[in-house]
Amino acid sequence: MPRIHQLSPSVVNKIAAGEVIERPASVVKELLENAVDARSTRIDVSLEKGGSEVIRVADNGCGIAVDELPLAVASHATSKISCAEDLFSVATLGFRGEALASIAEVSRLLIRSRTADSEGGAEVEVVGGAASPVAPIGCPIGTTIEVRNLFFNTPVRHKFLRSAQTEMGHSIEAVTRLALAHPQIHFTLSHNGRSVHELPSVSSIRARIAAFFGDELANDLIEIESESDGVTLSGFVANPMHSRATGRMQYLFLNGRAIRDRALQHALNEAYRGLMLTGRQPICFLRLDMPAELVDVNVHPTKQEVRFQDPGRLYSQLLGTLRTKFLTTDLTARGSTAASVPSVGESENDAAAAGASELVQWAKNELGKQVERAGVSSPPSFEFPLGGEDAPARELPMRSEPLRLHRLDAPEAPTFQMNRPYDHSDANTRSRLERTSSEAPSNALQVHNRYLVVETDDGIEVIDQHALHERILYEQLRDKVLSGVLESQKLLVPEPVDLTATESAAAIEHSELLAQLGVEVQPFGGETVLVSSYPAMLANLSPAEVLRELVEKLLAGGRQPDARDLLDDLLHMIACKAAVKFGDRLTGEEIESLLAQRHLAQDQHHCPHGRPTSLVFTRDDLDRQFKRI
Ligand code: ADP
Ligand code: MG
Repeated sequence: MPRIHQLSPSVVNKIAAGEVIERPASVVKELLENAVDARSTRIDVSLEKGGSEVIRVADNGCGIAVDELPLAVASHATSKISCAEDLFSVATLGFRGEALASIAEVSRLLIRSRTADSEGGAEVEVVGGAASPVAPIGCPIGTTIEVRNLFFNTPVRHKFLRSAQTEMGHSIEAVTRLALAHPQIHFTLSHNGRSVHELPSVSSIRARIAAFFGDELANDLIEIESESDGVTLSGFVANPMHSRATGRMQYLFLNGRAIRDRALQHALNEAYRGLMLTGRQPICFLRLDMPAELVDVNVHPTKQEVRFQDPGRLYSQLLGTLRTKFLTTDLTARGSTAASVPSVGESENDAAAAGASELVQWAKNELGKQVERAGVSSPPSFEFPLGGEDAPARELPMRSEPLRLHRLDAPEAPTFQMNRPYDHSDANTRSRLERTSSEAPSNALQVHNRYLVVETDDGIEVIDQHALHERILYEQLRDKVLSGVLESQKLLVPEPVDLTATESAAAIEHSELLAQLGVEVQPFGGETVLVSSYPAMLANLSPAEVLRELVEKLLAGGRQPDARDLLDDLLHMIACKAAVKFGDRLTGEEIESLLAQRHLAQDQHHCPHGRPTSLVFTRDDLDRQFKRI
């Protein structure tokens, strides 16, 4: 067995460097943090070859006293904390006293610094951990640190360096985070002698967001502000029409430090749920400011993760603030003119906008024909399952054929189609429909059996009939499920459904959740499950079909699906199944009814998957496109 021995400080530092210094961007981050901690008002960053060759950070902060320069590059030496208690009230970005020592161990590091009360400055050079003596030098107040040839003495790490472009990308990201967190500081960034960013001091980060991510995004931001028990939440979130495939554009700053926090990320996604296409990620620039004692920053070497004293409260504050804000903000997606086409590069939006502008042309032609059509009598009426809050659970007659071919209480009705939702015909539903249809006709026009074109006060709106109906049904269903009044149909003879072993296990395991949705299941021996009731809304589908769909969702949720997510998924599915289809011809009355109900929906602008339900073209947009203004 080899003998145990103490590692040399150099090896210790290399190990520490391995944790903290992964690539040039890590150095940029550490040097910037030091400059911010030194209360600088201006920080200049210049890089060469993405930072692999040279990283120079010059600040006008407090500087380092000549006699302390050797300590600055020693490991576990810091001016930011002095005892263990201080760890619980860290007010600076740094406190571990390891960064400079780590960097110096794996590069050629040069520090020049001068404090305000000193006549001249001093410099010290450390090459691969070996420090030269401190030498006097003339320099302005503040500190300049230069790091050359990163990893020159650690070939393993050096091998992992990527192209200058990739490394530069990471370095820019490090600058972005600090610059967004500290808008009051003037930052400049240059690469290979060329200026990349010039960011003068500002009070709101909107200007910085514009500088880093473009005006288009910056103009579509929603400002957020809330305060609760000493915790301030502020900043911006993007309109849901801007999204990304990953969470990379979710900037979260805690007391001036960029952090990642899974719970808060979850709250963010939760707030955008239903406003965004599934799989897309929202964009945010949010800062949390709270007393330092409420958070432990000493849990991660690069301090990107922190531990909150009361994570639940923050979760609620974030979710609550965003939800309230969204409810009071007009999130209508705007199509039309080039100037307002959302986020260039986001292909689905481009496509939507392109399709939309064809539609405008088409709608113009069609509008002329509308008058002729108004006189034509519409096919027999069909009602949406809109009311029915008080509808009692129905006893179904014994069935020998699949339910979907029958209309329960008026089997002879000729208009009932297989893919149409269950036709409520209680007096209750009817009176509501009559009321809605007695309102002034809305001048809506159905085009291609897919879209409804409606004249609005200042333009036209093109509505996706399926998306809108789906959203309305989804909200109605959700409210009913949450308040426990979802109508379900009891089957007189429960229907046995054959599933696979995994499917039947999932169905039985989640039978309570299914019951909440109106689907009652029991084991029936082997892989067969007995369905004894299911949602009235889905009466045009067979119970087996409904159950199979639901079970598929259950299984997709993994072994421990989150009950809320699952419920939501299931609601989406039911709403989607029950809604009129893309391609269904609607009668005038159906159109009226659908449009009348849209105002009941909390978010009528997005389908439950987050696609827009409508696009708005203002008269100005049209006038502009037709070159009238
Ligand atoms: P930490 O930031 O965790 O204290 P560092 O190794 O990053 O550890 O820095 C060591 C010390 O050097 C700091 O505590 C600070 O006193 C000093 N220092 C580093 N950079 C600067 C700077 N740009 N301006 C003033 N002081 C600095
Ligand atoms: Mg530091």
